[in-house]
Amino acid sequence: MAKVYLMTGTNRGEVEKLMQEAARMIGEQVGEILRMSKVWYTEPWGFKQGNIFLNQALEVRTELTPEQVLDEVQKIELELGRNRTEEAEIKRENGERYASRTMDIDIILYEDMVVESDRLKIPHPLMQEREFVLGPMCELVADMVHPVYGVTLAGLREKLAEKTEEAAGER
Ligand code: AMP
Repeated sequence: MAKVYLMTGTNRGEVEKLMQEAARMIGEQVGEILRMSKVWYTEPWGFKQGNIFLNQALEVRTELTPEQVLDEVQKIELELGRNRTEEAEIKRENGERYASRTMDIDIILYEDMVVESDRLKIPHPLMQEREFVLGPMCELVADMVHPVYGVTLAGLREKLAEKTEEAAGER
C-alpha cells in the first residue's frame, strides 16, 4: 500500500460535476480516497482568455505502482472527455502553450519516491512553481518534505510567494 497525491483540474464543461466525477472514478480505479482539499478556483494563466480553473488535491491509498496510477488517471481523463488532438489544434490555432481542457489529472507525489522516466516524472516537475498545486497540497500535507528539494511543501509555498512578490515589484 502506498499513498499517492493527485491533482485534478478542469476549466471547461460542467466543471463542478467533472470534479466530482473525477474523484469518484479515482476512488474506484486508483484506490481509497483518504482526504481531499477544498476545490480551489484560480484565474487562468498562460493563455489570453479562458474560464476559471478548478483544482483539487486528493490523498489516495493505492496498491498500484506509479506507472499503473498514470495509466488509470489517463483513462479517467479520456473517459471525462479530454481530447488531446483537439487540444493540440487549439494550441496551434491560437499560438498559445495552454489550451482549455476538460479534465487534467497529475501525479504530484508518490510516497517519497523519485521517478524520472520519459513518461512519468515524480515529484511533478512544476509543482514548486504553481500556487494552485501548493495551496491545495498544503491543506493536506504542509509538513511533508519534498524528496528532491528537501524542503517542506509549506516552505516551497513561501518561497514561491516571495518569488511572485519580487516579480511583481520588478514590473
Ligand atoms: P499534461 O498535458 O500536462 O497532462 O501532460 C501529460 C503528459 O505528462 C503525459 O504524457 C504523461 O506521460 C506526462 N507526465 C509526466 N509526469 C507526469 C505526472 N507526474 N503526472 C501526470 N502526467 C505526467
